[in-house]
Amino acid sequence: MSKKELLKSIPAVNDILNNKKAEKIKNDYSRSDLLEGIRFVTDKLRTKILADDFLQADFDNDKLKTENILDSARDYLKKIYKPEMSAAINATGVVIHTNLGRSLLADSAAEAVNNVATHYSTLEIDRESGERGDRYSSVQNIIKKLTGAEAALVVNNNAAAVTLVLAAVAADKEVVISRGELVEIGGSFRVPEVMEQSGAKLVEVGSTNKVYLKDYINAVTEETGAFLKVHTSNYRIKGFTAVVEAEELVNDAHQRDIPVIEDLGSGIIFDLQSYGLPYEPTVKESIDAGIDLVTFSGDKLLGGPQAGIIVGKKEYIEKLEYHPLLRALRVDKFTLAALEATLKLYRNFEEALAKIPTLKMLTETDEKIRERAEKLYDLLERNEKFKFKIKKGTARIGGGSYPLTEIKTYVLTIDSKLISSEKLAYKLRQAEMPIFSRIKDQKLIIDLKTVQPAEIELLAAEINQILEEEV
Ligand SMILES: *Cc1c(COP(=O)(O)O)cnc(C)c1O
Repeated sequence: MSKKELLKSIPAVNDILNNKKAEKIKNDYSRSDLLEGIRFVTDKLRTKILADDFLQADFDNDKLKTENILDSARDYLKKIYKPEMSAAINATGVVIHTNLGRSLLADSAAEAVNNVATHYSTLEIDRESGERGDRYSSVQNIIKKLTGAEAALVVNNNAAAVTLVLAAVAADKEVVISRGELVEIGGSFRVPEVMEQSGAKLVEVGSTNKVYLKDYINAVTEETGAFLKVHTSNYRIKGFTAVVEAEELVNDAHQRDIPVIEDLGSGIIFDLQSYGLPYEPTVKESIDAGIDLVTFSGDKLLGGPQAGIIVGKKEYIEKLEYHPLLRALRVDKFTLAALEATLKLYRNFEEALAKIPTLKMLTETDEKIRERAEKLYDLLERNEKFKFKIKKGTARIGGGSYPLTEIKTYVLTIDSKLISSEKLAYKLRQAEMPIFSRIKDQKLIIDLKTVQPAEIELLAAEINQILEEEV
């Protein structure tokens, strides 16, 4: 057939729209969506014909038939409306996995979010007077109680917290920081760049591995606005090192009327050493040392929603409350609801460990993880082409917390000559509920540390289905 004839055989858009099949598609999509889909498909056909790419085989396969054009239009619309973000199964063994959404919420926190999502709420209204109230009051008291701070504030994340603190306390002033603490957190949080954004001027002191009190003091000028300490949450400098203890720094700074700010990163509420984790400074320790403003994340070791929590002296928190940036960095009602519910679980530490998923995963016994591994193993269909094995392994905390700590876990390995581990990992990611695994020594590893008990059956069903397709 000639090009001209082929072009002529593309059905008219109106005829396609009036086809019976189109009526069915219109149950799921609007008329204008369908029109867009049809135009997309017919334009593509036209381009193909004009470029001499339309083959006899395409013609024989009825590519120009109305029904087939409608099928392609439906596929096009399906793709557009496909959910891009979905729930996923974390089988990587990284507990605070930033790319998989960091912390899971405790049940009570998820319920609180649902509750304020489907009802109006007392977000910013005073029940006594019926007048406008304070957005942050629902969490301020409990944060103060848990950290021993005079005052507290919450913003969108810890990066926002650091930016706001520096902008309010030290814009156009010099901020002294140790060279060993010029941290870069994955993604785009680099301390020097955040400081620049806030308008503060960075003054680096000491060397990468050593800094002394005199280094800070020698850097003080008329222009000094603050001393900044940053917790080296995602790395450690080991060996020939020296750091300045917070208390020491605070004493000298306060004699010179210089505030001390600390970015703690993860920020834990109570010490987890008795659960086999190494020492990490708690928020309360920083407050007790006299730090003026401390910032930390809501969704790292705290185990709550994404948020940046700022605690410290009232005179400085007030400055933040009046800073115009706060409006741009403010948290929404979902964050506040989830955060309040999470913090309330800390009233009783045992309850916090049992109910906050991040803490639960970090402190649960290996026995519990092995039980999950065995349950998964039992649910997998035996098949001589695939070898499953339960093994001891090492999981990680992630989220830039406890960088050197390896935690014990149990894993299930899947080994086969039929399919490479990379290909299997790819297939797991494409499952209805995507599964993220890891590969070690060419074997695919399902780490049960981060698989939730309620996910085991679905995980097994998805693996069974994928393996069945391979044999
Ligand atoms: C994680 C981290 C941040 C960034 O916190 P977000 O809540 O992700 O914005 C900043 N500083 C330190 C030291 C961190 O560990």
